[in-house]
Amino acid sequence: MTTVVVGAGIVGTTIAYELKKRGRRVVLLDKGEVGGGASYGNMASIAVTEFMPASRPSICKQIPGWMLDPEGPVRVRPGYMPKLLPWFARFVAASRPSKLRQLEAEGAVLCKRVYDDLLPLLRETGLEGELTEEGCLSLYSNEAEFSADREHIEILERFDFPHRRLTGSEARELEPELSDSIGIAVLFPQNRSLRDPFRLVQSLGQRFAELGGEFRRGAVAGFDRSDRISAVRIVGGDPIAADEVVICAGAHSGILSKMLGEPMPLETERGYHTQIMSPGISMRHSVIWPARAFMVTPTAGGIRVGGTVEMAGLDAAPDYRRSKVTVRRAQTALPNLRCEDFSEWMGHRPAFPDTVPVMSASAKTPGVFYATGHGHLGVTYAATTARLMGDLITGATPPVDMRPYRIDRF
Ligand SMILES: Cc1cc2nc3c(=O)[nH]c(=O)nc-3n(C[C@H](O)[C@H](O)[C@H](O)COP(=O)(O)OP(=O)(O)OC[C@H]3O[C@@H](n4cnc5c(N)ncnc54)[C@H](O)[C@@H]3O)c2cc1C
Repeated sequence: MTTVVVGAGIVGTTIAYELKKRGRRVVLLDKGEVGGGASYGNMASIAVTEFMPASRPSICKQIPGWMLDPEGPVRVRPGYMPKLLPWFARFVAASRPSKLRQLEAEGAVLCKRVYDDLLPLLRETGLEGELTEEGCLSLYSNEAEFSADREHIEILERFDFPHRRLTGSEARELEPELSDSIGIAVLFPQNRSLRDPFRLVQSLGQRFAELGGEFRRGAVAGFDRSDRISAVRIVGGDPIAADEVVICAGAHSGILSKMLGEPMPLETERGYHTQIMSPGISMRHSVIWPARAFMVTPTAGGIRVGGTVEMAGLDAAPDYRRSKVTVRRAQTALPNLRCEDFSEWMGHRPAFPDTVPVMSASAKTPGVFYATGHGHLGVTYAATTARLMGDLITGATPPVDMRPYRIDRF
């Protein structure tokens, strides 16, 4: 029984490890290196408080403005808009109040489980040291900004996620580099971060190999299937015989699901980071400033600044103006942050219009499974996804109702 896991990002690598641990013969296939996709340069946050669906009416109202400002927190490149319209139509449809309540609950179920799945994974692989102890501070300059984020805090209260309101001075006691312009902060103690997400995926890939898992380099060209899946075809290589295939190719998963006759509304929400090797400051917590749409995370390789969303498809060249604006915004919170020795990066968040991932058996081809569309929370959800997919694929009963995450929900 061979299972081919397509995509060695954090989602695919964690699933491959989980299946190997459960005794399967597993081939992990990627066109590039392990962890080289979105999982390479994300903001490293185990962001359990960030399950609020993106498709809120307050966000939908801003869509027209997104096309006009190339430096805004969300940007749609005008030339890409026609291609995006069907996805946007679904996004707007997911903003109905009853639908939002349902999507919040579906995200919260996963976020509640995150540490139940992540901590055992890190312990058994000897990677506990990759997770920091400190949480994340959400910043507000004043009461008006805090009120604008009230919707988020109310959802956390409804689902009972720990958080603590602080004054500006209390926040500066925790993070002395914060500017005096911060009047209010909220501490999310559970939003710990990874020291280096790329290193974590590579280490999990190594643990998978130590258990006897096989990594193959190759791009998927197609699939052989009749009454069930039988092989994965590789560009310029021999096909890999497969009893099961798990599609975890991040933002590219939609291309593969189409090859399998099962299209899904997956888009890329492109995001940028700036990794500052000599920032001139040190920090313990990650910080996020909702009104200014940036995040700063202390990582093993320096301070990482990132955030924002750009809708421009998989192929358009990066627009690094967006990283530069984000750094300038971060410097309003961290006035001593220097940006001299740095690198810039762009990655593709795999995003469904209703925010919730797909973790599902195919509705069309026996032996095919999907685990994708984790959007802004792929690092957060990876261990939980592996646990749930492990159950689904091996025929065990998952500990949560998997119906909300089915591929045929669209
Ligand atoms: C700027 C930014 C900040 C983020 N911050 C956070 C955060 O703080 N916390 C959080 O939880 N999440 C965050 N995310 C989201 C997170 O990074 C993603 O959800 C997650 O990395 C997706 O993982 P994945 O394994 O699904 O995809 P990827 O990591 O993209 O992996 C997909 C893999 O599939 C391979 N592949 C694609 N097509 C093929 C093919 N045809 N054949 C073979 N292989 C193929 C690719 O080479 C790639 O290695 C952020 C993302 C970005 C861009």
